[in-house]
Amino acid sequence: MRDFLATAVAEGRLSHAYLFVGAPGSGKHEAAEALARCVVCPHGGDATCDECRRVAHRTHPDVRWLAPGSASGYLVAQVRELIEDAGLAPVRARTKVYVLERAELLRGNAANALLKTLEEPPEAVMFILCARTTAAMLPTIVSRCQQVPFRSVSPAAGAETVMRACACTPAEARMALAVAGTPARAVDFLKSPSRREVRRLVVGALDSLARDDSWDVLLAARDLVAAVAVPLADVRQAQEDALRESQDFLTAAALKQVEDANKRELTARERSGMMEALSAAESLLRDVLARCEGIPGGAVNDDAAAVVDRIAAGCDTAGALRAIEAVGRAADDLAHNVSPQLTLEVMLLRIKEALACPPSFR
Ligand SMILES: [Zn+2]
Repeated sequence: MRDFLATAVAEGRLSHAYLFVGAPGSGKHEAAEALARCVVCPHGGDATCDECRRVAHRTHPDVRWLAPGSASGYLVAQVRELIEDAGLAPVRARTKVYVLERAELLRGNAANALLKTLEEPPEAVMFILCARTTAAMLPTIVSRCQQVPFRSVSPAAGAETVMRACACTPAEARMALAVAGTPARAVDFLKSPSRREVRRLVVGALDSLARDDSWDVLLAARDLVAAVAVPLADVRQAQEDALRESQDFLTAAALKQVEDANKRELTARERSGMMEALSAAESLLRDVLARCEGIPGGAVNDDAAAVVDRIAAGCDTAGALRAIEAVGRAADDLAHNVSPQLTLEVMLLRIKEALACPPSFR
């Protein structure tokens, strides 16, 4: 896949619209970033220059990332704003790049609005649509894009990649993949003390649930929300630095757009930080389930084996299953804009209840 894009870039025959299709974790977003770098970097995407750094930090004014504006999909207003923006000249590069995550959530009027632009694309604009599947997409949108399929990497290959990049143990790589999702994100996770701290707090919160009262649960949720916000401070700093550097040559309108994009990025990052906390909880509870069922090996949280043992000693299979379900419901709550604090409180209380089912019900 990478080779295919590299050749296309080298030979100067890039399409104006790509559709990257594959399951979560198949590397679509990493490839979209790499392609965006190739397009805006004067050195062919060397990954080291200022342009490439801005793309990686998502602060490049000519590379915009969009995600659905609501739980049900892209908003028409979002697509209209994109089209208007696409009509403006690039700020730093020769071409502007728009990456649309979850493009399968382009529906109805939002999809139709984008279709017109894909049919008659403005000069010097590239669209990269990332979708999990094309099944529910407007066929005319699909046919306007050059499709690039992505295959998921096997867990073993993923762990191998993480170990090579971080020089970590196989157990650490397995845990990081379970928490962060993709090899690239797992590597970032292992290198980020603040994100590892969130996971440490999640494990601690689950460990002490059996002894906690409602007030303790509330405090645990509060500490978690605060910990999730710590990595955001770095992102905000990077955004402010980039914005300061751009102030001289950006118009007020363009500055406003970068600021809006920055705000959206912070929201998206907070959400992904919360999702990572939920993944950490789910992964630990799956180990508890395996222990309850007496399934040997396959545990992901080797460093928290004692915690898994303690929780498994106090519950049964049905309780572990209901606890895992509580994590899934928390993910739904977040998708419906329930506050992080409330989501975590409710989740922890549900898990506590599930894990503490009285012996008469076992
Ligand atoms: Zn570069």
